[in-house]
Amino acid sequence: MSGPDLAALRHTVTSGSTAGLDWRRAQLGALRRLLVEHEAELVEAVAADVGKPRLEARLTETYVSVEEIDHLLAHLEEWTAPRPVSLPLTLRPARAHVQLQPKGVVLVVAPWNYPLNLLASPVAGALAAGNTVVLKPSEHTPRLAALVERLVPLYLPSDVAQVVTGGVEETTALLEQRFDHIFFTGSGRVGRIVMRAAAEHLTPVTLELGGKSPTFVDDTVDLGAAARRIVWGKFTNAGQTCVAPDHVLVTRTARDRLLAELVAAVHEFFGDDPRRSPDLGRIVDARQHARLVELLEGAGGTVVVGGQHDADERYLAPTVLADVDPDAPIMQEEIFGPVLPVITVADHQQAIEQIASRDHPLALYVFSEREEVREAFTRRTTSGGMAFGATVVHVGAAQLPFGGVGASGMGSYHGRASVEELSHHRSVLDKPLGPDTLRVLYPPFDGLKGRL
Ligand code: NAD
Repeated sequence: MSGPDLAALRHTVTSGSTAGLDWRRAQLGALRRLLVEHEAELVEAVAADVGKPRLEARLTETYVSVEEIDHLLAHLEEWTAPRPVSLPLTLRPARAHVQLQPKGVVLVVAPWNYPLNLLASPVAGALAAGNTVVLKPSEHTPRLAALVERLVPLYLPSDVAQVVTGGVEETTALLEQRFDHIFFTGSGRVGRIVMRAAAEHLTPVTLELGGKSPTFVDDTVDLGAAARRIVWGKFTNAGQTCVAPDHVLVTRTARDRLLAELVAAVHEFFGDDPRRSPDLGRIVDARQHARLVELLEGAGGTVVVGGQHDADERYLAPTVLADVDPDAPIMQEEIFGPVLPVITVADHQQAIEQIASRDHPLALYVFSEREEVREAFTRRTTSGGMAFGATVVHVGAAQLPFGGVGASGMGSYHGRASVEELSHHRSVLDKPLGPDTLRVLYPPFDGLKGRL
């Protein structure tokens, strides 16, 4: 593998041209054109690689990436404007401001589940912040990776963006190089590898990781509506979504009705034979399929709906499980597939204790109309993001920073958060030499006597 030409990428930044808004707008415009002009091919590649429905791919990959770029373009000037700071009397006369400036060369490493969106959105943020980029698509989406490798040079010059394809070996080699920021989306296991490699060069990292995002439901809500929102968030992309509800914690009084509504929502969305539904995705590859079948078979409990699977088609039916064994692997690791365990809890207190005893999740969803329940979740838990009455959609709002906390990651992005995350916040002070008001600080310290 010949590595990327980091010297050329870094030189673009040190030349000063990327500090200006014109350069940033031009690169964002080029990235936008790439996505729009090749949307059909990109969607086709993602659909073939991941096995997701084309319309879903358009919505969650190309459409949201273009939206993100438009949001960045609309606000770039406002977000990057120097922020004046008022100084204490002792330092006056002087002026000061905080200036966001490019960090340099940003490495973006993407996973396979939203292989285009999770590449394009961080890259857009990096370019908006005036950086140059190296893009590393996932090796588990080979068609998309090849397409990105072919298209990027047609829109972005090689001193602005370079694509490196490959898997563990190539990424390991890449991580030995010195970047100015690494933006990684993927598993906690690889996130740790990335952070260790970054430490060698004291390179800052953004880690967008995963985890088990819980959903709490009690009997104060419209359980039909709650079930539809949970089923949609869970089974989109066949459950292979970092913020998908991993499992449900339901109070005893709501359990039976919620289970019935979950079954009804699965039938409503995917029909009586979900295998024939054009709107249900497949599992990305045989390895993931085997892992999910093993989790399902080791879960214990009762299959309320679904459970069917077919390795040849990488099919796994939208599955709801009740009364699973709390010690089973399915309740220990991130499920990342279309299997939804529903666990019964006595009340919200028990749910909170369970959530608080585990790693901080990437998302937490609460379906309750009771103010004290909402308040208790707000105060006593933490998670990357939180939604009341909905699942997943908070990720789609470019106005909300998106990121994890603790084991679900560090740093955040989308919209303004991307520009802030991928810029250096430089403090700048400008003081006239005369009058020399700093004289009071110089030795001999007679001037300080009696003042401190
Ligand atoms: P992964 O960690 O296996 O791979 C991600 C990237 O890391 C790939 O580009 C891969 O080439 C590279 N990589 C893999 N092994 C490596 C190694 N040993 N050294 C260096 N690089 C290596 O993740 P995945 O399976 O592609 O994605 C699934 C995970 O990503 C889930 O945990 C999911 O929750 C998480 N995820 C998080 C978000 C988020 O925004 N927070 C979004 C999507 C997925």
